[in-house]
Amino acid sequence: MHIYDYIIIGSGLTGLTIAKKISQETSNILVLEAEAVAGGISRSAVMNDHKLNNGLRFFPATDVSTKALEFLNEVLGQNVAADRSENLIETYEASGFKRFTGFGEKAPEFYEQLSYFLSADEYKLNLQPYEWIQILVSQLQDKIQTKSIVTRFGFEGLDSEKPELTHVVVNGSKNLYARNFIFAGPVKDLGLLIPDDILNARAKAKLKKAQAWQAVGLDLVHSVAAEKTNLLVLNGTTDDDIGPCVGRFSAAVNGSTQSTSQWLSFVDSESAEDTENIGMILKKIKRQIKRAFPELSDAIIKERVSVSPVISGSDLKLNANGTLAKVENLWVASPQVNSYQNLLGALLQAKLILSALGFAAEDVTVSQVEESSHVEESTSGEAEIV
Ligand SMILES: Cc1cc2nc3c(=O)[nH]c(=O)nc-3n(C[C@H](O)[C@H](O)[C@H](O)COP(=O)(O)OP(=O)(O)OC[C@H]3O[C@@H](n4cnc5c(N)ncnc54)[C@H](O)[C@@H]3O)c2cc1C
Repeated sequence: MHIYDYIIIGSGLTGLTIAKKISQETSNILVLEAEAVAGGISRSAVMNDHKLNNGLRFFPATDVSTKALEFLNEVLGQNVAADRSENLIETYEASGFKRFTGFGEKAPEFYEQLSYFLSADEYKLNLQPYEWIQILVSQLQDKIQTKSIVTRFGFEGLDSEKPELTHVVVNGSKNLYARNFIFAGPVKDLGLLIPDDILNARAKAKLKKAQAWQAVGLDLVHSVAAEKTNLLVLNGTTDDDIGPCVGRFSAAVNGSTQSTSQWLSFVDSESAEDTENIGMILKKIKRQIKRAFPELSDAIIKERVSVSPVISGSDLKLNANGTLAKVENLWVASPQVNSYQNLLGALLQAKLILSALGFAAEDVTVSQVEESSHVEESTSGEAEIV
């Protein structure tokens, strides 16, 4: 029976970043990916021969994000960001375009998700997130096993004082053994993957109930070039529950006169179950684009819609080092347990876990781990992610 040093579950940015760093110390690792293609939600999309990010990908320029990109540069061995520039956000009102200054008293329910895009400065990326993924996938190719859904975490001695996580069950039947496990999939799924003896019914109910947001993405190809390429927040005149969207146009692509635009809004998981709600969100996004950019809206030649899995919302007890309470060898690496539930959070959470495991990331201290993960010590010595 083979025993891996590390099994990493999920081949998104978080899982791949961790795997790449660990692979520099041991080759005895395995990345398990449920889908047929590695890369998670940041892998590339192709529309009309244009290779794009799978939806809008914005990266703020702050002190925290600068450090995160330095870490990514080191992992990839390439410099991903070019310049810092002012994030000139505009909105459209009846009188025309104007600088976006905030939502006033009408902040949307998903303001926390949206606020990430409102940072004063942004990084112009000379390597796009889908390219980060391509590099990591090509470097780790022989370590990634696709079409492999982890359906259960397997423990030995479940009725003893100290149950031990020894293996994962893949596709419902195959057991794969490791000394350490890193979970980089949706945190809510832990409720299904972990036996009740380890994560009790109350903890599972809390996980299930936590408010969770999903991203609704609309990507468009236009047959004409765009006039603006800065970030746009479009809200319109209707005061409804659907809320605003954020998006931007690309400059003319591949020397052609075509342009692309990518738009993003959020929906809570419960509403996302009803396709009518998704339809309404898309309709509203399109209405706002048409109002602000009638010509570009009439020149749409291709569209692509995506609804992501849950990208935020977790209420889970973790130890201060990022392991699941009561399980010393299972690290939870999803950005959903980080303050930043996005690309930045993926990098920060990867860095935190690597630091807790003793792999480089030398400038992260345990107190920073706690700060970034919003960890609070409880009297039992366990830490609660809030
Ligand atoms: C449309 C859209 C727009 C976005 N825009 C931005 C943006 O502008 N800026 C920004 O910073 N962030 C943005 N984000 C968020 C950002 O892309 C994500 O936070 C980040 O990519 C998450 O990476 P991850 O590795 O944690 O998760 P993922 O990329 O979701 O990877 C998780 C992987 O785990 C696999 N998996 C799950 N469960 C299992 C299992 N049981 N067994 C095996 N494999 C499993 C999944 O198949 C998946 O491949 C956006 C997201 C979307 C969807």
